[in-house]
Amino acid sequence: MPGFELFGDQERKEVNDVLDNGVLMRYGFDGMRNGHWKAKSLETELSKTFQTKHVQLVSSGTAAVSVALASAGVGAGDEVIMPTFTFVASFEAIMMLGAIPVLVDIDDTLTLDPKAVEAAITDKTKAVMVVQMCGSMADMKSLRTICNKHNLIFVEDACQAIGGTYDGKPLGSIADVGCFSFDFVKTITCGEGGAVVTNNPEYYKNADHYSDHGHDHVGNDRGAESHPFLGYNFRISELNAAVGLAQVKRLPEFISIQKKHYMILRDAIARVPGVTFRKVPKGGEESYAFLNFFLPDLETARQVAAKFKTEGIDACWNYYDNNWHYVRKWEHLKEAKSLYPLSTEIKHELSKLKEKDFSQSDYWIGRNISCLIKLSWTEEEVRQRAETMVNNIKSCL
Ligand SMILES: *Cc1c(COP(=O)(O)O)cnc(C)c1O
Repeated sequence: MPGFELFGDQERKEVNDVLDNGVLMRYGFDGMRNGHWKAKSLETELSKTFQTKHVQLVSSGTAAVSVALASAGVGAGDEVIMPTFTFVASFEAIMMLGAIPVLVDIDDTLTLDPKAVEAAITDKTKAVMVVQMCGSMADMKSLRTICNKHNLIFVEDACQAIGGTYDGKPLGSIADVGCFSFDFVKTITCGEGGAVVTNNPEYYKNADHYSDHGHDHVGNDRGAESHPFLGYNFRISELNAAVGLAQVKRLPEFISIQKKHYMILRDAIARVPGVTFRKVPKGGEESYAFLNFFLPDLETARQVAAKFKTEGIDACWNYYDNNWHYVRKWEHLKEAKSLYPLSTEIKHELSKLKEKDFSQSDYWIGRNISCLIKLSWTEEEVRQRAETMVNNIKSCL
């Protein structure tokens, strides 16, 4: 997955364009820029890549989720349904706005279970946030139907699925508003960065203003701009955008390398009896950023993960025991350990997490092994890796 593995001349050239004129900021300073608008150019490229009318770059993927929710009017007291398996950024971004994260089970897609979503809807629910984890996606048709039926905003975090598609459409472009991260370990990187993508002109305008202190960006005198509403600073810098501009043009190359490596590993592992793979919904094509498979039970999965570690198979995880991606180890969330006071409503919802039954999520995450697909491997290395993985899995079954 990480685009940094193939950092090279193109990235260097784009960054040097910025260093040559010294304008590190994305807005203003028109005369000094020598025509270089890296953030604007990257937004144009991303709009083509993700086939959406509007793109707003921001400072991180976490910022993208907060800005997306704020732009759609989600705030204090609103419930946002999110999965138990995701990155901690999901609840951080929700709670930053005073909204309430409501965690629900995942299914064999390793993403939101539509039945669990429907069961969690209350009269305070404002949005459903799907997280396209580990290169694949949820049953987007069912989730869309639920959102339409209950009049909910549908948010799509595609930070880990850059380049995947559903019914021919890029992941991230399917819900009402999508979020991407271009942090250092994502498929395309800006070093740090993120994007909000949408076809909704109102959400876009809101994202554009909100991510820059509410500036309306009318005219070219920043000091004279008005503030139609309150904002914040989630701007990306020109240096970060420059790296992303080189990387986005290489996305098709990155995806084809990922696919080739993924297929070699999958074909080998598929021959081991007792191994199954995550479900990819009909019409979906993964980004091939990760290979996810299931073993018969938690104990076997733990053994395989440990064996991989000692045998030099890096970047494979059983997320059951992981601190960052699965609800089981989010003690800081369950205990509501905040530096500053949280609202009573948020504290009340979080207090339920310690008792809540997530056995369905435990069942899928417990048996899962998730392996990052790297871009820098040689074909020989991938074949060697496949053989070692197969032998290690067999020895545990
Ligand atoms: C990486 C990631 C984020 C956050 O991105 P940052 O740019 O690191 O803030 C959000 N959601 C998911 C699913 C991610 O993997």
